[in-house]
Amino acid sequence: MQPDLHVCPCQIHPSSSAISSPLLYKDCCQPYHDRLYDPEDNKANTAERLMRTRYSAFVLIKPEYIVKTTLPAQQSFLDVNAIESWAKETDWAGIEIVEHTPKLGKRHAQVEFKAHFKPTNNAGNLVDKIQAHHELSTFVKVKNKANNDARWYFLDPTVAMTMTQKQPCICGSGEKFKRCCGAYLV
Ligand SMILES: [Zn+2]
Ligand SMILES: [Zn+2]
Repeated sequence: MQPDLHVCPCQIHPSSSAISSPLLYKDCCQPYHDRLYDPEDNKANTAERLMRTRYSAFVLIKPEYIVKTTLPAQQSFLDVNAIESWAKETDWAGIEIVEHTPKLGKRHAQVEFKAHFKPTNNAGNLVDKIQAHHELSTFVKVKNKANNDARWYFLDPTVAMTMTQKQPCICGSGEKFKRCCGAYLV
């Protein structure tokens, strides 16, 4: 199949009537995926947009994009192969943004969402009704001091980092960890 001519995965909602004119992949998440989050263009302007492109990357099995959109200080802790096999094993059924909080404090945002999936057995047959991962994800906006460019990154709460609360934050903000991203990584 040619995914670029299909409806973007992030435009598929489990109750199909919720999105009246869904975008095609080529007009939605593909430009982000193809440029692999290139600093020059196509950076996601909001945490919700970044969240959607990450969901589509899971559906289309693009683990590099998942890594690149995670906070740089956490990227080396991620297991690309594990992300890839999890994405492959999941039969995704749509995304529902429950709530987007675009500004939390100075540089954070949160997106509450439900990523729906079909529980299947090894033979690929549906074994139960559609279920959802219901999550609240935190994002941090990082400013590149060299060019004043700012972009959103996913703050991964599953990455165990040995940080003392008084160290400078992993996002590079210059604030203490506990007053910055540490507040969202518990
Ligand atoms: Zn999309
Ligand atoms: Zn921080």
